[in-house]
Amino acid sequence: MSPSTSALKFKIRHAQPRVTATERERLLANPGFGRIFAEHMVRIRWNAARGWHDAELTPYAPLSLDPGTSVLHYAQAVFEGLKAFRQARGGVAAFRADAHAVRFRNSARRLALPELPEESFLEAIDVLLEADHDWVPSAPDHSLYLRPMMFANEVTLAVHPADEVTFLLIASPSGSYFPRGVKPVTVWLSEDFSRAAPGGTGAAKTGGNYAGGLLAQAQAAEQGCDQVVWLDSHEHRWVEEMGGMNLCFVFGRGPGARIMTPALTGTLLPGVTRDSLLVLGRDLGLITEEGRISVEEWRSGCEGGSLTEVFACGTAAVITPVGAVKSPRGSWTVGDGGAGEVSMRLRQALVDIQRGAAPDLHEWLYHASVSSEG
Ligand SMILES: *Cc1c(COP(=O)(O)O)cnc(C)c1O
Repeated sequence: MSPSTSALKFKIRHAQPRVTATERERLLANPGFGRIFAEHMVRIRWNAARGWHDAELTPYAPLSLDPGTSVLHYAQAVFEGLKAFRQARGGVAAFRADAHAVRFRNSARRLALPELPEESFLEAIDVLLEADHDWVPSAPDHSLYLRPMMFANEVTLAVHPADEVTFLLIASPSGSYFPRGVKPVTVWLSEDFSRAAPGGTGAAKTGGNYAGGLLAQAQAAEQGCDQVVWLDSHEHRWVEEMGGMNLCFVFGRGPGARIMTPALTGTLLPGVTRDSLLVLGRDLGLITEEGRISVEEWRSGCEGGSLTEVFACGTAAVITPVGAVKSPRGSWTVGDGGAGEVSMRLRQALVDIQRGAAPDLHEWLYHASVSSEG
């Protein structure tokens, strides 16, 4: 047996349907984001002695945790977020599941958690989609959001890399992340708070990064803004990300337009959407680059007209245009404050691939082996 072959065997335990088919369709018609959950979940256990074991598909259910469970105290937890889409020609596919599997391992390594082999990550998705494919919504801007996660479930108040870990995969039918749809957002440039610092956990998808950002998000809301923009922690000058999304800057217009996104310095989260849009931008004949942009350049670019569009990108919301910027030093608008042409073209190109409406030239779709479908 080759060492790369997953030794994990998934035990399958199907749930008694929680809701009727009619009730499910009613829920799927207006799912919101992260509110409702499919019938099943996947669980895999790990401990230092046995490695990964006891992989199973089980009914979605609450967990019972000892109050001394390590993650509740020291936050050793990582997660992923990816989407499965109903395909134009039938079946269900998850977008760039392999890239998410790699990032999940990288995040785990940073938090001193064990790395789940990529084939087990993919098989977990396959097993869940096979059981819950009825929960993949069919409306054009809806999907089944997949949330793999892992945490230290060892019972101890001692601080050390966990000897006992639980992996879970749950799924949540979702509509659009921002309920207002593809409407431009207003952002607040945070100078009081930082999301990440050199040597920290900014490149890992871990809940602590979000916990540390909530107060800044609340401050943005107090300023009448939708989202917070993170600057580098040292100079508060270089633009990094927006909330839980990466940022892209469009210079010029038409065929000669150039897209620039802040380079991955170690304090940014390496977004799969960001990476996909760099590829699609080149496919569309645009110039794409990773670089850096300061707050002053953002402002002067908008005021001088060379910087025409700014958008945020991430799995949950795909592309969200940034229409206006507010900071302690002043406010400005981006372009005419509306959704830009390049932003919307990129968004459409990505969404078409995700739903199987355009050819999957880069082999980004992971087709689930949904057997019971016609
Ligand atoms: C998840 C995440 C992103 C976007 O990553 P995608 O893979 O595109 O969904 C960007 N920034 C942060 C902080 C994130 O947690």
